[in-house]
Amino acid sequence: MVVSGLLPYDDNNIFAKILRAEIPCNKIYEDEYALAFHDIRPQAPVHVLVIPKGKFVSFADFGANAAADLVFGFNRAVALVAKNLGLEETGYRLITNMGWDSHQEVPHYHVHILGGRKLGVMLAPIDA
Ligand code: AMP
Repeated sequence: MVVSGLLPYDDNNIFAKILRAEIPCNKIYEDEYALAFHDIRPQAPVHVLVIPKGKFVSFADFGANAAADLVFGFNRAVALVAKNLGLEETGYRLITNMGWDSHQEVPHYHVHILGGRKLGVMLAPIDA
């Protein structure tokens, strides 16, 4: 299901349940600002999701409404997770999907960390 990034926050979204430890995840990092875990349907040899500890639907919501310490701490966590995954030398791609056109599926702000192989052009051709 594709979602709007502008909806009110849904406490029952899957990442909210992961944050509350109601469902499991393959966790690789956690601090006071962020939780990182492996994507359940990896699209690269390394495919990790990093989510903030807070009720934010999308990047738009997070960027507009998160407290400064959370924005700072979350971004630090994303960089640290990528470094800990050994991706700094070869490089990696960050993706965050926001709303309909991006194909956002989960209405809790998250950043995808993708790496472990050459990732090719940034977007597939329009007719792919
Ligand atoms: P997006 O389209 O940016 O909202 O991405 C949502 C991502 O969450 C997809 O890559 C899914 O494979 C991933 N995903 C959905 N449910 C889970 C889950 N329970 N554990 C880990 N990853 C998940």
